[in-house]
Amino acid sequence: MNKDIKIMIELQAFWQVILQERKNIERFNKSIDFWKTELAGKKNTRTEIQSRIMELKNRQKTGELELHVSEEKIKKLEHKKTIIQTQKEFSAVDNEITTVRAEKNALEDSIIVLMDLIDTEEKTLASIDAELPAMEKQVGNDIEMIKSDIDKSEEIIKLNQAHFDALIKDLNPALQGKFSKLLSSKNGIAIAEVSGDVCTGCNFVIPAALTLDASKSDKTINCTNCGRYIYK
Ligand SMILES: [Zn+2]
Repeated sequence: MNKDIKIMIELQAFWQVILQERKNIERFNKSIDFWKTELAGKKNTRTEIQSRIMELKNRQKTGELELHVSEEKIKKLEHKKTIIQTQKEFSAVDNEITTVRAEKNALEDSIIVLMDLIDTEEKTLASIDAELPAMEKQVGNDIEMIKSDIDKSEEIIKLNQAHFDALIKDLNPALQGKFSKLLSSKNGIAIAEVSGDVCTGCNFVIPAALTLDASKSDKTINCTNCGRYIYK
């Protein structure tokens, strides 16, 4: 086999490892982002519940004040009833009392509903508070582990890049530029084997004469379809 082709095959192998590890790092970073988003989401939910509880409690307080006002009003009306003279006046006050009582009942009902809502929200908050520290710890540990995987991948990349950089110096300088260009395009594959009459880089049938040339050791051939270096 052609010496340059042999070197390119080796370079390609180093390059494949580098590309694979880059993909791994991308995946690892996505995992880190995922866990950070999960945790932030949980904390957001917690903040939202807290502000809902505060709002509900304010409404409860307002309701209780209104309740107090209507109780006072009823008291005053009851007192008025004891001092009025005519039957007409009496019925008017009595009607007013009925109206205020109805308002008071409605207020009481709405306060009970509010209290139920507050209770439900507080239970949810408590369960988030119970699981949040463990989740934070778990996510922290997971991220540390993923970071150490990233470090490992970076080490592998460094090592293979060093091998690559050292070896590419042995490649015929006239081929280096095109080879590097192919590596950074063409899905990172610059050299492909010919299987039968098919370039495995692009899966296209190449001319038989080219296949023959690809198997000769004195020639450096490129696929007529994809431009990759080919060998047989
Ligand atoms: Zn091809």
